[in-house]
Amino acid sequence: MDQLSKLSLIVMLLVTPLAWAQPALPRDLTLPNLGVAKRLVREYYSDGGYRADLQRVVESARTYLERNLPRYALLKPALVLDIDETSISNLDYFQRYDLAFLPQEFSAWLELGESPVIPEVLDLYRWSRAHGLAVFFISGRLERQRGSTESNLRKAGYLDWQELILKPDGSNQPSSTFKPEQRRRIIGQGYSIVANLGDQESDLSGGYSEAEFKLPNPIYWIP
Ligand SMILES: [Mg+2]
Repeated sequence: MDQLSKLSLIVMLLVTPLAWAQPALPRDLTLPNLGVAKRLVREYYSDGGYRADLQRVVESARTYLERNLPRYALLKPALVLDIDETSISNLDYFQRYDLAFLPQEFSAWLELGESPVIPEVLDLYRWSRAHGLAVFFISGRLERQRGSTESNLRKAGYLDWQELILKPDGSNQPSSTFKPEQRRRIIGQGYSIVANLGDQESDLSGGYSEAEFKLPNPIYWIP
């Protein structure tokens, strides 16, 4: 090989990219991106989507109850309501903390007892009370939060109820078993649970109600 050929070979080696293998795609590409997810959740509230979805669900519950009202004369009808993100809203808290659930801060927020009412559900509650339905609140909140929970509910306009059912202090029983057990107990007292409203699947699964209505909650998930 003459000098020129050697030089050409060296130049060619220098300018040719080395072989490379496409790395496996990082798993993050298959996950929802947190920043994007937060933006979408904020938009869901700010563009009216959350309100519209919530109103649609409550409206369908109202229509259902109205249609079935004649049956209730023969029953001891009961409406079951969840509390957080169903009867009252903690959105102020979540907006303050960038949509984060921080156990200590959230506990302190609940202790204030100032979560605003969800007016559509209050209307349904008032309609239900006016038509002879007993109202049971079943919540994943703990017994030690009873005082602030009761005062928050009253401040929000829920003035009376048949029972406010909370988890025992220290309980780590999932709502998906605690709540149906409580509904079964209510039915054992002779009530018919004609409708059950909650923002979590675990508020509604497990039976012991005639109809379930799932309100939107894009922020957190409770087993
Ligand atoms: Mg809830």
